[in-house]
Amino acid sequence: MLPEPANCPLCSAAAERTRAAPRGFRYTCPACGTFHISNTALGCRNDIPASAREDVRRLRSFGYTARIDIDKQHAVRVTPA
Ligand SMILES: [Zn+2]
Repeated sequence: MLPEPANCPLCSAAAERTRAAPRGFRYTCPACGTFHISNTALGCRNDIPASAREDVRRLRSFGYTARIDIDKQHAVRVTPA
């Protein structure tokens, strides 16, 4: 799957994304790095707290790729993919 240009849902920078199995996208942002995000989380990107960006960065510093999702309580969760 070819990457397509897309603005980063965390910081709005010009980034690239590819469709990720089984659902969602894998973003590569010059500021936030590479992370996965579910379609659900992408659908309410305005509700993603600024802290999610820090979480993504922290996980990357530990060698993980972050996955951003919305849990059953409609809270944004950032977990290692
Ligand atoms: Zn970003």
